[in-house]
Amino acid sequence: MSFAELGLSDKVQQAVAAAGYTEPTPIQAQAIPHVLSRRDVLGIAQTGTGKTAAFTLPMLTLLESGRARARMPRTLILEPTRELAAQVEENFDRYGINHRLSVALLIGGVSFGDQDAKITRGVDVLIATPGRLLDHFERGKLLLTGVELLVIDEADRMLDMGFIPDIERIVKLVPFTRQTLFFSATMPPEIQRLADAFLHNPVKVEVARAASTASTITQRLVATGREDYEKRETLRELIRNATDLQNAIVFCNRKRDVAVLHRSLQKHGFAAAALHGDMDQHARMAALDSFRTGEMPPACGQRCGSPWTRYSGGQPCVQL
Ligand code: AMP
Repeated sequence: MSFAELGLSDKVQQAVAAAGYTEPTPIQAQAIPHVLSRRDVLGIAQTGTGKTAAFTLPMLTLLESGRARARMPRTLILEPTRELAAQVEENFDRYGINHRLSVALLIGGVSFGDQDAKITRGVDVLIATPGRLLDHFERGKLLLTGVELLVIDEADRMLDMGFIPDIERIVKLVPFTRQTLFFSATMPPEIQRLADAFLHNPVKVEVARAASTASTITQRLVATGREDYEKRETLRELIRNATDLQNAIVFCNRKRDVAVLHRSLQKHGFAAAALHGDMDQHARMAALDSFRTGEMPPACGQRCGSPWTRYSGGQPCVQL
């Protein structure tokens, strides 16, 4: 199967080729023709399967006809987190290079003013987290009656995060005749109930879980003591003893643990940044950027370029 066989417009196909993709992923091959023929789609797929392009590519094609009106977005994409919403926006930037579409991002932690101005001018694609979307709606600056296509992405995460009442409210505000694309990695009964309520005669598209681990990743179980300080000590040893370690991501199961571990790593001289949902958007983006570029400031606050450095008392940084 090639991208040319899916029915995407020339402009979209050129952007896909420029992105370096040669073949559609299974979710793209299965979903795109149905989206283009205006069917509702229930997609059971998780992140990593290429599902974002499975809806952004046909949306770009569909949006080529018609134009946006002030305050009335033509399409709406709901995402559970600001980061996912920002990633979807990046997809529109990448695949929409040959289009002149207006895309707006409505996420918390960013000022209302710029977002309002964009909506007032008219947007083709509105990407939003549920709470911020409803805030805008309640301020009377946004009309959802022009939405032709609604995407509900990561529905099971929306459920975990308590967003379902917001989603149900939003769905009542968009036209009944809209096209709906609904994606979820899993289908617990509550999500199935929503899919039944929101979708009209949907095509069900299901893809296997994305390869659970890349073949280049080695998984290991490391024994450590029960106490948190013992775990932190083990972690420090792991980092220090690893050969060729450029950077690392450490997951914790609570925001409080992230804060404690972050402070501890910094205290021990590691260049570490924290990332969790209570941080403001600017700090979250800065943390992600510093990780991507490898320019995480060391604990001493100096940018010496080395990820694992210790700085003390005016002496030059030394490799740990
Ligand atoms: P997603 O599941 O949407 O988060 O996408 C996972 C990753 O796959 C992203 O980094 C995309 O850039 C990439 N991707 C999406 N579609 C394709 C494709 N057809 N071929 C190769 N990579 C792709």
